[in-house]
Amino acid sequence: MKNNETAESRSINMYAAIEAGGTKFVCAVSDHELHVQDRIHIPTTTPSETLGAVFAFFDKYTLDAMGVGSFGPIDANPSSPQYGYITTTPKLAWANYDFLGALKAHYPQLPIAFTTDVNVAAYGEFKRGAGQGKKNVAYYTVGTGIGMGYIHNGGIYMGDQNPEAGHILVRRHPDDTFAGACPYHGDCLEGMAAGPAIEQRWGKKGKDIGPDEPAWNIEAYYLAQACMTTTLFLSPDIIIFGGGVSKQSQLFPLIRSQFTRLLADYVTVPADADQYIVPVALGDDAGITGALLLAQEQAA
Ligand code: ADP
Ligand code: ZN
Repeated sequence: MKNNETAESRSINMYAAIEAGGTKFVCAVSDHELHVQDRIHIPTTTPSETLGAVFAFFDKYTLDAMGVGSFGPIDANPSSPQYGYITTTPKLAWANYDFLGALKAHYPQLPIAFTTDVNVAAYGEFKRGAGQGKKNVAYYTVGTGIGMGYIHNGGIYMGDQNPEAGHILVRRHPDDTFAGACPYHGDCLEGMAAGPAIEQRWGKKGKDIGPDEPAWNIEAYYLAQACMTTTLFLSPDIIIFGGGVSKQSQLFPLIRSQFTRLLADYVTVPADADQYIVPVALGDDAGITGALLLAQEQAA
């Protein structure tokens, strides 16, 4: 705070949030109560073009802190020399790109929290959405890829790097002959159940598949296995699903019943399946909400 600034004039300063996706960046600014004041969508093209538009948006405001959730994989380990880089993405213009460094070069004084796009959405749902009041929250996004963010005891869990539970191995559905779409593992969870796998297996996009078609039973079988593995490994209080594919609400009863059957009462879960495996409560705002919360914490 500058000396001549009053607390009141400072309160008009903004928190900044970036949800950096492989298709688009969503940028937003909020007041200190996290009410969004302005928001923009910017296509993800090259770093210089996209970040040029990002800076043009934020430069209109006086910022107190920024929270960033980025597509990846990213290096999220603050003690790593490559901390803040987008690493091995197939989006070649962004591969091995020092994203956090570029933000810091433009805003040298600004405190910036940097994590994955999945983690900011997990954090938003934990603080303001379906995970409110819980301590341990598993959040899956099922969209172009599958990612998981884990809130452990109220904080974003980090190992040496971020866990990549979207690529766990799954048992194949007996009626499923699809080879799998993951460029690294073929028929891992993402390779069998993300949006592109659905589209390649059935020859049409998920949103064009009717709610009663067998596609959703097969989809639910894989997502139920993700829930089972997550339950056995982490014993969370709740498992929340976001991302485009999870907008198919008929999936949830199917996931829950297959989960219950697969788990076979081997362990107890903290709630009935309809309270334990749930869709996001914040819709498409989970990520921006989480990024703003991280900005607020950085400022404090
Ligand atoms: P991204 O993962 O790129 O951030 P989305 O979460 O919207 O964005 O995921 C896009 C993927 O989800 C695409 O493969 C798309 O076909 C699929 N998808 C998006 N909306 C729906 C929907 N309503 N029903 C089924 N699949 C959807
Ligand atoms: Zn994989």
